[in-house]
Amino acid sequence: MNEEKKFVVKEVYAILPGEGQLGEGMFYKHLWKLPIPSKVKGLISRGTHNHLQTMGNLKKGKIIDDTTSFECISCNSSIEITTHLLFKCKFSYSIGARCYEWYGDERVLPADYFNHFWQHRGNINGKKTILAWGAVWASVIWALWKHRNDIKFNGVSRNLGVAMDALKHRAWTWCKANIHGFNSSLYVWSLDLANYLAQLI
Ligand SMILES: [Zn+2]
Repeated sequence: MNEEKKFVVKEVYAILPGEGQLGEGMFYKHLWKLPIPSKVKGLISRGTHNHLQTMGNLKKGKIIDDTTSFECISCNSSIEITTHLLFKCKFSYSIGARCYEWYGDERVLPADYFNHFWQHRGNINGKKTILAWGAVWASVIWALWKHRNDIKFNGVSRNLGVAMDALKHRAWTWCKANIHGFNSSLYVWSLDLANYLAQLI
């Protein structure tokens, strides 16, 4: 077994139930290497520590009072806490599912950061492919938080298509700027993601 395959086995092992610590430690190693802006790494890191200013956290910290609605702005059916906002909400789940459609795949999406990431990571091979695919995952998280803020503070309407287009474009921009040899056009990236990633290596 070569070094690359050993690495992949170790990665896949990290997603097994009961291996939360391993999955968590490896998660941050991957996060710091991703070809994404530091502000996005910061957002994701804050989220894993439950430090995002969700309505649930603002209420818990008594920064908002009981008269303020602390429900999720996308579905109005649950308290806006991090795991709901990013993973459990129907809107968030739909964004994740649409991403796998884009890739030509279908997966059940876990409702927590680490397992969600490892599920996304899967058993993809190739250093640059892993980085680009990881940037897609980060772009989903960033898009969900940004879309939530646009709805809340800028009066934007919830729109799956707009959020999807924005996250595809954003991930492409990050990869183009930070992965040597990444030369896909936005057109190819948007329409033929799996084939482009397969040859990126
Ligand atoms: Zn919701």
